[in-house]
Amino acid sequence: MVSRVLSAGLRGIDGYIVTVECFLSGGLPRLDIVGLPTGAVSEAGERVRAAMKHCGFDWPVSRLTVNLAPADTKKAGTAYDLPILLSILAAAGEINALPPDAVFLGELSLTGEIRPACGVLSMALAARDAGCQSVFVPTQNAAEAAYASGITVLPVRSLGELISHLGGQAPLSPCPAPPPPVGHPNELDFRHVMGQHAVKRALEIAAAGGHNVLLSGSPGSGKSMMAKRFPTILPPLTDGERLEVIRVWSAVGLGEEAVQRAERPFRAPHHNSSANAVAGGSGAAGRLPTPGEITLAHRGVLFLDEFPEFRRDVLETLRQPMEDGRVTISRVAGQVTYPANFQLIAAMNPCKCGWYGTDRCTCSQSSVQQYLRRLSGPLLDRIDLQVAVQPVQYEALAARGKTEEESSADICARVLAARQIQYQRQGEGVCNANISPAELGTLCPLEADASRMFAAAFQRLGLTARAHDRVLRVARTIADLDGASSIEAAHLAEALQYRTLDREAAE
Ligand SMILES: [Zn+2]
Repeated sequence: MVSRVLSAGLRGIDGYIVTVECFLSGGLPRLDIVGLPTGAVSEAGERVRAAMKHCGFDWPVSRLTVNLAPADTKKAGTAYDLPILLSILAAAGEINALPPDAVFLGELSLTGEIRPACGVLSMALAARDAGCQSVFVPTQNAAEAAYASGITVLPVRSLGELISHLGGQAPLSPCPAPPPPVGHPNELDFRHVMGQHAVKRALEIAAAGGHNVLLSGSPGSGKSMMAKRFPTILPPLTDGERLEVIRVWSAVGLGEEAVQRAERPFRAPHHNSSANAVAGGSGAAGRLPTPGEITLAHRGVLFLDEFPEFRRDVLETLRQPMEDGRVTISRVAGQVTYPANFQLIAAMNPCKCGWYGTDRCTCSQSSVQQYLRRLSGPLLDRIDLQVAVQPVQYEALAARGKTEEESSADICARVLAARQIQYQRQGEGVCNANISPAELGTLCPLEADASRMFAAAFQRLGLTARAHDRVLRVARTIADLDGASSIEAAHLAEALQYRTLDREAAE
């Protein structure tokens, strides 16, 4: 006889329904799993056999064929263990027919415990969209699965517990809807950063307009300290963005961490990281490509310290995602698209030794130029704000404890106000950094004296067409922070300051 159990798979971060069928036939006892199982799925048989015996069931003495449909899609991960086991039990007549509108997910231990799996939230959403009434998930995945509204989520600890539930002896209790996110008091706060008002101002502009930033300054000037605090001044995640973030993190088995986090993600890969680790694509041979750091930074911040030290191929992989907000990875095993809509903060020393512009610098002019040339032009073109970070002044440190620095909450309030203006003008969620070249003329009107100033500066600094557009977008954000409808000379002058590298390159 043939049994049928519903489960779900994951493609990128999208779930889809998988039907697990089991057919018992005569012949030598053996188990075949078909339907393109890869990696862990092809080993599911061993776990299923052990878990079944441990829970007091007999392994059927017949030939077992398990089919995972649709058969033309590669199946990865461990979530199929439980539905495979149930399909075998049902085919052998050991349990009654399963509820037809329920989806089962979970990895099995050899003793029948149900272990967490990757991508459970997206799978639960797929089950809901397919019209299923309930989804059985590992207990550790219950918190993320609860974000799938409109379907009953039933957390299961062990196979024994599930069998008792299905038999009606001890019904499982459904997982309640998730509580609204609580803003955890973050230990990181701009209140603790003394001085550095020019850099804080630049980061405020970046947060307000969604601009990418490059911080250039000597070691110890506080670049990473400030970058780490950047998420604290960004607008909180909307409900939709939060769901996207949890789905992404869930796909790599970090769903629980994502559920507990109130803020936007912050990822800081080391400069030795490979292109696979940063953009995605690692994983064993024959497996589908896995998400990288830029996907984990989705809806948050990607911080690249020692920016010029990153390998050229790693930096090149960033270009397309920075344009499209997603990354497509092609490998022999298949092609996957992951979301990768992040804000970039890059940090670098001004030269190889780090002390350019001071007496301590030992670099020759040509080696400084060579160092700067490591940054790829097209990538630099996607960074709106270039900020020179000066060493912390003694006065700022001496004032510690005596003067109050502005808190992240205060800065964030201004950021939110500027975002509101942008969303009303450009549509919900569209920041100034995303204004298309065609719209720049109408959305960024310059006052007469600002216009004259820009014409002169364009010649003097030798700006490229792209740099011209970036200055306009940044000036638009500065005007929005100021509550001004058109761009004034002062706004433009400030925006022009944030092209330090263009200036150095022009010299
Ligand atoms: Zn130097």
